[in-house]
Amino acid sequence: MNKLRFYPNKKLDELMSEEFLNVRGGGIDFGKEIIRIHPQLKSVKSLKDVAQRKKAIHVYFDNYYQIHKTAMLHKIENIRKIWRKQEQEYIAITEDFFGGFQFPEGKYIAYASIINCNPRFLESKTFQFFYKKPPADTTYTITHELLHFIFFDFIKKKFKKEIKYLSEDQLWDFSEIFNVVVLKSPRYRHIVNQKFVIPYPDHLRYIHQFEKTYKNSKNAEEFIKHGLSIISLKK
Ligand SMILES: [Zn+2]
Repeated sequence: MNKLRFYPNKKLDELMSEEFLNVRGGGIDFGKEIIRIHPQLKSVKSLKDVAQRKKAIHVYFDNYYQIHKTAMLHKIENIRKIWRKQEQEYIAITEDFFGGFQFPEGKYIAYASIINCNPRFLESKTFQFFYKKPPADTTYTITHELLHFIFFDFIKKKFKKEIKYLSEDQLWDFSEIFNVVVLKSPRYRHIVNQKFVIPYPDHLRYIHQFEKTYKNSKNAEEFIKHGLSIISLKK
């Protein structure tokens, strides 16, 4: 995989905040989290008119980006340097865990974001990270999102049949639980600070069972095989 690149992307950030203002998932209210960081967006949430909403978000983001531009660029530069030192090791550990399967080709980009939703876009190999997070937390976000990219590519190729029987939610649940269990394991202790590996509230009750399964699996393929059968029983 190519080196991960880091950029700001205001347009994408606006789109995502429009989208996430009314999203809940895995026990998290993303809209509430956006407003906690940006109280001025509270009035935007209640706007029913889409054009008005877009406009209000645009004005707010324009202003925010203008004021915080230097600080954002500084943070981006800082995390780029930190990640560069760990990148090769992370790729090696991960591809080894996947039995030599490699990260899918793509132009990997991490976009700084002023909201804390951190979505990823599988197709384009890009994702957002909240720029105000401490570097160790951002490192976790990066390892987490990159793991999604190889995970989904891997299961699409190796577990094509099995994943047909899963709902979209089940697959999402599994991908998130998979990440938490794997990135919390000793395999990544040099790179990931475990303090920041936090499951979605709705997944908490499954973590223990998956951790046991992980320990009994010799690689990603085995863990996924067993994991898929556990998650397929989940409602
Ligand atoms: Zn995730």
